Amino acid sequence: MKIICIGRNYRDHAKELNNDVPDEPVIFLKPDSSILKPNQVFFLPDQFKEVHHEVELLVRISRNGKHIAERFAYKYYDEIGLGIDFTARDKQNELKAKGLPWELAKGFDGSALVSKMISKTAFPSIQDIHFRLLKNGDEVQKGFTGDMLFSIDKIIAFVSQYYTLKMGDIIYTGTPAGVGPVHKEDVIEGFLEDKKMFSCKIK
Ligand code: ZN
Repeated sequence: MKIICIGRNYRDHAKELNNDVPDEPVIFLKPDSSILKPNQVFFLPDQFKEVHHEVELLVRISRNGKHIAERFAYKYYDEIGLGIDFTARDKQNELKAKGLPWELAKGFDGSALVSKMISKTAFPSIQDIHFRLLKNGDEVQKGFTGDMLFSIDKIIAFVSQYYTLKMGDIIYTGTPAGVGPVHKEDVIEGFLEDKKMFSCKIK
């Protein structure tokens, strides 16, 4: 399986990192070895000085497809979840400054926290879901899927022009504002509306 991530999909987050708002989706991948299961401990890698949380809505692809039309995209996913795109911000900034790919800052072991998945039918509309992240009990990020610059169906239509989507692939749909560092002994908890999706201890 593969993990496809969308960068800068919320205006307020693009701004907080002084990035332009993109006119087409910004895409990067994480390897399957980066997956961290809910309730597993996240170990801060020694190689990095500053690792940030990015809470994101996840979509799991439920059938294979390529060149998927936006109007049919909804047929290709039936479960959603919540995840953290852990990002080594110091390394990412260094690579960005050199015009190099970000993979080292984004794809390291444990960098893709994936919650349990639930049926998308648990919500009236996928573009009408509030989600949030608590760090040590305080709200640090909150998002609303209606604020995405590129909707989930648009993302699937775009990505599938380049990558064949396969059953089990996971899409990270971008983070809202409020990203920040995690430290040893922090506990982060993610919620989709009132449903607790994961709790993760940082070590
Ligand atoms: Zn992200």
